[in-house]
Amino acid sequence: MRTVIAKFGGTSLADAGQFRKVKAIIEQDPARRVIVASAPGKRFPEDIKVTDLLLACYEQAQRGEPFEETLGKIRERFDEILTDLGIGFGLDAAIEELRAHLSKDPQMEYVMSRGEYINAQILALYLGFSFVDPEWCVCFDESGKLNAELTKRTMTASLRPLRNAVIAGYYGADMTGRIHTFTRGGSDVTGSLAAAAIGAELYENWTDVSGLLAADPRIVEDPRIVEFMSYRELRTLSYMGASVLHTDAVLPVSDLGVPINIRNTERPEDPGTTIVRKLPRGETKYPIVGVAGRKGMSVIQVEKVMVSDESGFAAVILDILKNLKLPFEQYLTGIDTVTLVIRSDLLAPMKDRVFAQIRETLDPDYLGLTENVSMIAVIGERATDSSDANVRVLLALAEAGVPINTINQGAGKLNLLIGVPDDCYGDAIRAIYGAIDESAREV
Ligand code: ASP
Repeated sequence: MRTVIAKFGGTSLADAGQFRKVKAIIEQDPARRVIVASAPGKRFPEDIKVTDLLLACYEQAQRGEPFEETLGKIRERFDEILTDLGIGFGLDAAIEELRAHLSKDPQMEYVMSRGEYINAQILALYLGFSFVDPEWCVCFDESGKLNAELTKRTMTASLRPLRNAVIAGYYGADMTGRIHTFTRGGSDVTGSLAAAAIGAELYENWTDVSGLLAADPRIVEDPRIVEFMSYRELRTLSYMGASVLHTDAVLPVSDLGVPINIRNTERPEDPGTTIVRKLPRGETKYPIVGVAGRKGMSVIQVEKVMVSDESGFAAVILDILKNLKLPFEQYLTGIDTVTLVIRSDLLAPMKDRVFAQIRETLDPDYLGLTENVSMIAVIGERATDSSDANVRVLLALAEAGVPINTINQGAGKLNLLIGVPDDCYGDAIRAIYGAIDESAREV
């Protein structure tokens, strides 16, 4: 039997109208047998997500403040969905259970998980599917870390016998029964775990956009949607700030090679973005899949004549960072120079110590610092296969008058990382995006 895991995010399940769209999507393909549900999200931009209302409730209870009004808003959200869809569900009992919990020493993760807990039950009733409570099959240890092995076994055992099921996203429990949640947006992770557990042929992640964009739409007008990308490319894009999929959602499916398909509940006819382990062979139309970046980097430059002959030099610098528990983004070496790229917010509190220690231990000929640098990633595993993509990118930056602070491309060639001044960030992204589009070939 073909199985597709379909995870629906908060906006896809924000109200009764959205539930209807979700049902129509599920009914279109009988392989959509295992559904992962988020809590109701925003219905309009100023709206508040149910998970945020739950958090507010918890905080009020924690401070000993009245929380009835907030709890009433949560109740209203579910009540509206139930009334509109004509579903009989014991909402009063569920709210009463939550109220009782809030009234005595509440636990934050338990409270925050109740949006998914209730919403998934409502969706299961609406679809006529079984409800699966992840309390019994998403296993955490007592420190709140996911036990992936055990989860795989218990999830397989819970889901395999069912013809169809709705599982609540975002949470699980430890051996003592204490509820733990993933970080925000974590229903994506539940979907991925479920896909891995039952060896799904596809993991569909239904959201409110038609896929991953090749560039930030706040900077580039109407950027293209990426049709295919690899897990590795997605990882880079997410690291650089693209936020369509939770970063921990890739690992469980990537081991098995289950493709992830990002889809839009508002436009189910759109193919979305498909993320695969290995990109299809042959020439691709867009060898560069996208461009993304992060502002706020500091670049430290250390120079010392003959340094490249001293093998211990790198070890000393890295030891300084390690002892100060200061992570770095990049470590670049040249003849007699070492360049470190570090996030400015992390460097700031220990800048003086880092510089003093480098001076003391290495006695450099020159020690410099450039701040307000943006790191831009030009992403594409296939970019350097056959094309002149790098040349086009650098040429586009030169034409746009963007100075370059650093360039880094390892043998892995997943991406080209370019450092530019923060105030040129937008121009750089636009220029590179232009070059990507220009370098696209018809295949
Ligand atoms: N409802 C949770 C959140 O708002 C988890 C999720 O939607 O994935 O973060």
